[in-house]
Amino acid sequence: MTIDLHTHSHYSDGTKSPAELVQLASMSGVTAIAITDHDTMDGVGEAEAVSAKYGVEVVPGVELSVVHENLVLHILGYYVDAQQKDMAHALTVLQEARDRRNEKIIVKLQELGIAASIEEMKEISGVGQTGRPHIAKLLMNHGVVRSMSQAFNEYLAKGCRAYVGRFAYSAKDAIAFINAAGGIAVLAHPIQVDKTLCVLNSLLPVLKDYGLEGIETYYPSQKKKMQKRIRKFAATNDLLLTGGSDYHGDIRPGTRLAGGHNVYVPPELLETMKERLSKKGTL
Ligand code: AMP
Ligand code: ZN
Ligand code: FE
Ligand code: FE
Repeated sequence: MTIDLHTHSHYSDGTKSPAELVQLASMSGVTAIAITDHDTMDGVGEAEAVSAKYGVEVVPGVELSVVHENLVLHILGYYVDAQQKDMAHALTVLQEARDRRNEKIIVKLQELGIAASIEEMKEISGVGQTGRPHIAKLLMNHGVVRSMSQAFNEYLAKGCRAYVGRFAYSAKDAIAFINAAGGIAVLAHPIQVDKTLCVLNSLLPVLKDYGLEGIETYYPSQKKKMQKRIRKFAATNDLLLTGGSDYHGDIRPGTRLAGGHNVYVPPELLETMKERLSKKGTL
């Protein structure tokens, strides 16, 4: 038995619907799944609606892109109340910032002579919000690039030809929103913050002070040796050990729902998280 606390649906840049993710979890022997779309919780309700049908517990979640000093961090929020006033407002602000950013990217692509349009981007994106992976798909459809990574490396990544920044909350604010909305804040995939992990020495005590409660330890690209080091960081900073696959469906081939590479998340973690929630008065 295992659980998966990091998945993306088509409400952000995943390709499966929330209901399909729950169904897939059930077929893969995953007993609980968190829907953690980028900057939106719009898909959580659809997953919850089929939770009983498939016998899979659904954990409401979100993955916020935030800034801290010169770092971009992803902060996962679990059991967040999306209706809580400040959280609902923050998610709206982020959606609007994304929309403005996406339109500017399309303009840059047009200036580069690529016949891209907002309508086409929206069609590729389908339901939910649009992210750079959708724009990467558009570039592939136009034959401008051959792969997702080429699209990022030549056009969409920071500093590249069609890169446009967007507003992001600070780590301090985002962790505060998550806590105020009754949730548990977790640092996602520390390997993507610093592949040596050394930055965690100074970063974790600061984030802990802001209200961080966990660190994503079990993650496909975090090998067993690295997990051991992350466990030590977690112990030093009294953080929960969480994990998940970061499953995005067909748009990111090679990732499977829990149980895949380096990802085994003990189901007991949910009990520990729920104890935290009852102390906070969320449950
Ligand atoms: P956005 O949230 O719209 O700024 O897009 C960021 C998302 O693009 C990330 O969450 C990743 O899923 C994806 N991404 C970022 N860099 C790359 C890359 N080099 N290759 C493929 N996907 C990427
Ligand atoms: Zn993504
Ligand atoms: Fe992430
Ligand atoms: Fe993710």
